[in-house]
Amino acid sequence: MFASISGRSVIVTGSGRGIGRGIARRFGAVGCRLLVVSRTLSEAERVAGEITAEGGTARAFAADVQRAADMTAMAKAAVDAYGGIDILCANAGIFPAAKLGVMTEADFDQVIGTNLKGTFLAVSACLPVMKAQKSGRIILTSSITGPVTGYPGWSHYGASKAGQLGFMRTAAIELAPFNITVNSVLPGNIATEGLAGLGADYVRSMEASVPLGRLGSVQDIANAALFFATDEAAYITGQSLVIDGGQVLPESLAALDEMRSGS
Ligand code: NAP
Repeated sequence: MFASISGRSVIVTGSGRGIGRGIARRFGAVGCRLLVVSRTLSEAERVAGEITAEGGTARAFAADVQRAADMTAMAKAAVDAYGGIDILCANAGIFPAAKLGVMTEADFDQVIGTNLKGTFLAVSACLPVMKAQKSGRIILTSSITGPVTGYPGWSHYGASKAGQLGFMRTAAIELAPFNITVNSVLPGNIATEGLAGLGADYVRSMEASVPLGRLGSVQDIANAALFFATDEAAYITGQSLVIDGGQVLPESLAALDEMRSGS
């Protein structure tokens, strides 16, 4: 049984849909007070409405993680609403595919700017508040793609997601004296609106490559993020947790076939 974190102030970037929405609703369900952030205000408002309808506390805020001014305003909105920032889930990310040779400089900048620079800007904006509090939890949404695996079309994405882990390790050291921990969740293939956009063939092939036999749910990721925010996880920092149904484990297609054969 974990101690209650009810009442804590939580920002989740990219929570208008997908994994971020799942994280926000999970924290809302345990009594945290949420700032639901995405560029599309109507989607953030819908998620905030879902949380309040379930008896929780949530407000919506429109912001682009690529813009420092937006991140500063986001942190201020959380402080104005809830008096502080206990937990930041830096989750906003994009994964448009483009193979090398086709990928443009603008494609590269867009992915790095959102996924990696966006992480830096969100964290930087919340730091003054967390440092003054002498406490904070920062949870990044990275990926298996980049830190553990590769996939054609995602060299920029993989670089951004591996980059988040490099950022995390040094941030964890720098922020430890302020009692701020920094950890990462590394989702495998999770059933979200964004993933569905990659097409039915992609989804089917991913399902077939997961030993546990299904895509992950947003709740699977939200549960791991919630763990990093608990008092019981206070001594864990600079770490990453793969949540992928065993997807990165088979060393070859033959290993998967052997598993399926059951012999
Ligand atoms: P999604 O369904 O496309 O949702 C992404 C969310 O991020 C949306 O709310 C989107 O809203 C927001 N967002 C995108 N760009 C933003 C920006 N510049 N500023 C603020 N918000 C922004 O994606 P998802 O599948 O949930 O992915 C969420 C995170 O998990 C990403 O970091 C992704 O890399 C990671 N991940 C996902 C999977 C997977 O299988 N789904 C696997 C590994 C890692 P707006 O467009 O309205 O801003």
